[in-house]
Amino acid sequence: MSRIAYVNGRYLPHRAATVHVEDRGYQFADGVYEVCEVRGGRLVDERRHMARLQRSLSELRIAQPMSPAALSIVMHETVRRNRVGDGIVYLQITRGIARRDFAFPEPANAPSVVITARNFDREGGERLAAKGISVVTVADDRWGRVDIKSISLLPNVLAKQAAREQNAREAWFVDRDGKVTEGASSNAWIISRDGRVLTRPAERGILRGITRTVLLDVIEAQGLVLEERPFTVEEAYGATEAFITSASQIVLPVVRIDGRPVGAGIPGKVATALRSKFHRHAEFS
Ligand code: PLP
Repeated sequence: MSRIAYVNGRYLPHRAATVHVEDRGYQFADGVYEVCEVRGGRLVDERRHMARLQRSLSELRIAQPMSPAALSIVMHETVRRNRVGDGIVYLQITRGIARRDFAFPEPANAPSVVITARNFDREGGERLAAKGISVVTVADDRWGRVDIKSISLLPNVLAKQAAREQNAREAWFVDRDGKVTEGASSNAWIISRDGRVLTRPAERGILRGITRTVLLDVIEAQGLVLEERPFTVEEAYGATEAFITSASQIVLPVVRIDGRPVGAGIPGKVATALRSKFHRHAEFS
């Protein structure tokens, strides 16, 4: 079955799904995106992802291409046409097509919309979670507005490649004070020696992950103590557990940081419990 992409009003087979050479997403990475988990054919936390999308668009002054209701219909239709049971739906909106010029086009043109969806190997994901992943730390040399979910991801690409070259699955960005900000495509968490769940506050230094937001409810329901504060790489090395969160990976235990075992070097009890309880607190649509 050929995969289908939604491109500016049309559902097209991938081989025919193209964007213009002067699309500002292609020229300047002038756009935003969202990734929602799809589970049992339904979207997970669509409402929150759409709220973050609106915020990203408004921070960059990109016009809304269609109403949230219409966008929701197209996302569900893209999931349906690709027969996605468990997987993701990807949505990207750029400032549209215009002759190459750095400042915004005048008069403003129509934003471009691309939506794709694909299946994931859910059992493979569970096996990975049971095994845990390795992360490596890299300097956080990104721009100051990483709170916007922009498609400008070159530092994240380089960080992920550095991880891969060291047989790790994720890279954790570290700020100038030696504190972890977040992963290249995830939020970063540790459990301190005194049992507190630590993660960086969602200010401008990180993306406010939707999985992160929902996990705060799970943490509360589990009666765990949360502390939203930056933690150092040394604290992470000495943590009893570590994990990452993202829409496509939910909660994924981290068992090695820069080659050093975290805790016993196996997925921790807390991370494993948070992963298994996550979807009870998520919204499905
Ligand atoms: N931080 C970064 C840099 C990301 O790219 C992502 C997801 O792609 C996240 C955090 C996690 O966000 P969410 O839980 O909304 O997927």
